[in-house]
Amino acid sequence: DRIVSANSDDIERAAEAALRPRRLEEFVGQPVVRDQLSLVLHAAMNRGATPDHVLLSGPPGLGKTTLAMIIAAELGTSLRVTSGPAIQHAGDLAAVLSSLTEGEVLFIDEIHRLARPAEELLYVAMEDFRVDIVVGKGAGASAIPLSLPRFTAVGATTRAGLLPAPLRDRFGFTGHLEFYDAQDLERVILRSARLLNITIDQDAAAEIASRSRGTPRIANRLLRRVRDWADVRGSGHMDLAAARAALAVYEVDELGLDRLDRAVLHALCTRFRGGPVGLSTLAVSVGEEPETVETVAEPFLVREGLMARSPRGRVATAATWQHLGLVPPADGAT
Ligand code: ATP
Repeated sequence: DRIVSANSDDIERAAEAALRPRRLEEFVGQPVVRDQLSLVLHAAMNRGATPDHVLLSGPPGLGKTTLAMIIAAELGTSLRVTSGPAIQHAGDLAAVLSSLTEGEVLFIDEIHRLARPAEELLYVAMEDFRVDIVVGKGAGASAIPLSLPRFTAVGATTRAGLLPAPLRDRFGFTGHLEFYDAQDLERVILRSARLLNITIDQDAAAEIASRSRGTPRIANRLLRRVRDWADVRGSGHMDLAAARAALAVYEVDELGLDRLDRAVLHALCTRFRGGPVGLSTLAVSVGEEPETVETVAEPFLVREGLMARSPRGRVATAATWQHLGLVPPADGAT
């Protein structure tokens, strides 16, 4: 997997767990969401009530799971975790819901991937704190209502737009997580370094931050890789030279682009004179599947203004040529 991917796997999750902020005040950045969430939670606690359901949206690796854990911790209650893909049938969700205890937080990751019948069961549970258990089949089937304790659902989604409106409307509060700026990522890195007993210079932290694609998960991963380098090839201390040398080994450049990103941009400029070129043609020229280029490389390149999409295909921008140190063709193909 790519070192600059915003997704993580099970092995990495263990390393991440140690670095998760436990309370809202430890959660770095995202001042708007933090402030709004703090109000929602404290108002409910003051009233002795269960807070409204919370929807968290934003790209992977920005802290949705972390915030769900923090919500439960701030409320002094426990967190139950499930996810859209883990729930195959409405009955699976009914089982989870009916085992909740009063005031618990139910975290549903990737909520946009819930199957329709489970989604419908969830609306009712969120609104009326009730599930209807269907007994029997066909004409003789009947629904037995089962009342649920009051709970707070926290849904996480990378694509809030994919949620059907009736489900979206059941959430009293929606927090949108934004990509982090370099300063906040630097704070994430310094905090993680402290927890991992790493000594790091501030300029080294800033260097890692600037290559982390606005994503704490990537910042923490790069920090761990720089630590490897410092331990094996350096003095153990992380200074700017160590950070730069390590990131060169992992082929992560100053903007956080990796080899695939650069190969795509290089092909776009040198083989197709800056485009426009169709996605499939571009992907074939770098030996990748179109889907990989579209989902793995393109979003970040487009966000950074290093590639643009036009009706006739992908095109290089002035920034693309500049980043690669190339000169655009004189006839202005771009
Ligand atoms: P996914 O949707 O892929 O599960 P996510 O948005 O739920 O991603 P998390 O798992 O919460 O992301 O966070 C990824 C890592 O980044 C965790 O190790 C967490 O400690 C760290 N992290 C995220 N946000 C912050 C933050 N604001 N301050 C400090 N660390 C953070």
